[in-house]
This record gives sequence, structure tokens and C-alpha cells, in this order.
Amino acid sequence: MTVAMTENFGNPSSVHSFGSAAKKALEEAREQVAQLIGAQPSEIVFTSGGTEADNLAVVGAAMANSKKGKHIITSSIEHHAILDSCKWLAKNGFEVTYLPVTSEGLVRVEDLAAAIREDTILISIMHVNNEVGTIQPIAEIGKIARERGIIFHSDAVQSVGKIPVDVNELQVDLLSVSAHKIYGPKGVGCLYIRKGTRVEPRSFGGGQERKRRPGTENLPGIVGFGKAAELARINLPEEQKLITLRDKLIDGLLERIPDCQLNGHRYQRVPTNVNVSIRYLEGEALLLSLDLKGIAASSGSACTSGSLDPSHVLLAMGICHEIAHGSLRMTLGRDNTEEDIDYVLEELPIIVDRLRKMSPLYCCEKAGQCETKEMCQHV
Ligand SMILES: *Cc1c(COP(=O)(O)O)cnc(C)c1O
Repeated sequence: MTVAMTENFGNPSSVHSFGSAAKKALEEAREQVAQLIGAQPSEIVFTSGGTEADNLAVVGAAMANSKKGKHIITSSIEHHAILDSCKWLAKNGFEVTYLPVTSEGLVRVEDLAAAIREDTILISIMHVNNEVGTIQPIAEIGKIARERGIIFHSDAVQSVGKIPVDVNELQVDLLSVSAHKIYGPKGVGCLYIRKGTRVEPRSFGGGQERKRRPGTENLPGIVGFGKAAELARINLPEEQKLITLRDKLIDGLLERIPDCQLNGHRYQRVPTNVNVSIRYLEGEALLLSLDLKGIAASSGSACTSGSLDPSHVLLAMGICHEIAHGSLRMTLGRDNTEEDIDYVLEELPIIVDRLRKMSPLYCCEKAGQCETKEMCQHV
């Protein structure tokens, strides 16, 4: 990336040798990214990230195919980059069906098959959910979509680099990837567009990215994305080792913290995701105490934390508001060690205990365990 910002400063669209050196770096990155997901380099369109890839996929495919029909199927647990695109489409003459999910966060293939209509033009179901890590049956859905001649998009931002992702095995026509979710730079990603799939551009100008995404390319970002993609492909087997750490963390939390439940599927989840609800507590309060101990965690999704609305994902899974508010998400990464897990398992129960003793919700239900008895009388 440093080279792309200094020595290799040309514009990939320029004819001179500086331009062609930049173009070469751009096309090398395209090959690295294509290889990670089993695509052809010509099927990769670089974007400013996962959000833009999702917007381009859903709105672009809907617009390009609106003469055939105006019905779209998605799920109720998608990222807001998809949900808000669907909302915009609904305001502009399209009709959207939001599939429910099971209590473990899985879309049922039967529900999807039953929702397909004559005028269905697009199905968009995420590969892995960003809050609970559940892995959806994308290949099965892809098979149905293909049989029915419907364009199939999957937001694979959370699966790429964590589990194998191959666009042909999954039978997808469109697939979104983001660099910063695979240890790459922020502000860059791509949309895979299968050859022959019609997608209208969302921005207009030059002829870059086969006119699907015009504008001078973010070369430093793209080069960084390419390198991250190459490393993600090489390191994929390493990532599976995180399953042991993930399971140690899950089992340890459920064992040591009373009234704690796992959100999402026990096994059909990415190696990196742990999401639990700790009853009688607010996730946000836990985050601050954890941060003081050097533990970085989230409640809900990073994009909506700070808002007090409970997670739409947990609510769609049938989890009540109170328990959804107490959700805590911990994401494991390549550099985590067993000692890190031991440290969390040591510190978190102490924090939970301390916060619960101050919680009127808790002490009234568990009378006698409260240090602030006056508070109980007020509730
Ligand atoms: C992070 C994320 C996005 C958005 O990607 P950005 O590159 O941050 O815009 C979209 N979908 C999912 C599932 C994500 O986790």
C-alpha cells in the first residue's frame, strides 16, 4: 500500500508507463481477490466496501431486471446495507418479502421456496450473520434460485476468510466482500458479478470497473485488499483452529455465569463468533467495564451500537427485548491465544457479579443477593 501511495502513483487509466504500472497493480489485486472466492478476475468490481457492494447488488440487480418482475426476497436478519436498500426499493415500486429465521438464526429453505413467485427477480440472503455468526445454507438456496432462474446475491462479508467461499459451489450470481473484515484496509471491498448477470450501475462517470463502478480507483486500498485476500486464502486452515478457542469461551461463559445464554447456532457458526446474553444486565454497561480491563467487545452490531434499540437480529430470532439488551458479542481473531480466553473467563464473571449487585432488575428477582436493598423497595 505504501508503494501504491508513493512510487506507484500513476492513474491506472493513463496511457503512460506510470499509468500502466498502476494498472498492473490493480489487475494483480483483482486476480488475488478473484482467486479467494473462485471467480474470474473480470467478474470482480471494486467498491468502497461491503456496504456499497450490497447496495450495488440489490438496487443494481433490481433496477436492471425490473421489466421481468418487481418482487425481491431477503431475510429479516440481513445487515442494514441490505435492509435499507430493500426499504428504498419498496418506496420505489418493488415488493419485498422478509423471511423469518429460527431461534438459532437460520433461514429455512422451505420458507424460501414457498416465498418465490412468478415475479420474483432477486433473492439476497447473507452467508454468515455479523451478530450471531450463523452460517446459512447458501448452496441449497443457490440451487433453488438457479432452477427458478432468479438472480441470487449473498452478503459474504462475514464468511470470506473464515470459512471456504466458492462462488460456483454456492451457486451465487452476486457476492459482497469487504477488505477490513479480512484484516485488510477500511474503505475498500468488491462485488462479484457472475458473467452475464445484469446489474445497473449506481454511480455514473468514467468507464472504470467495466462501467459498473466508475471513478478513479482507490489503488492503495485495492492493493491492500489484494494482499489481504492472498493471505486469507493461505491462512484459511489456520482460522479453523479458532473453533477450539471459540468453544472454550462459549462453554466457559455458560458454565461460570448464571442466567447466561448463547445466541445463534451452537455449531453452525463461524470460528470467530461468540454472542451471549447475560440476563439482568445491559450489554453496553458490560462493554465499558470490559474495556477498562483491556477486553474489546461489542453489543449488537458495531454500526448500531450507541443506539438503544435492541438488535433486529436477536428480535427476529424470537429473543425478548430484555434478553436482547443484555447481549455481548466477542469476536476472535488470528492473534488470539488460549491465555486471552482464560483472561476473559476470569474477568467477565467478576464484572457480571459486580454489575448485577447494583442492578435493581436482578436484586428484586433474586431477593437477598442485593447490596442495595433500598433500591429494591423502589422497584
Ligand atoms: C461489515 C459488514 C458490512 C459492511 O461492510 P463495510 O465494508 O464496513 O461497508 C456488510 N455486511 C456485513 C454482513 C458486514 O458484517
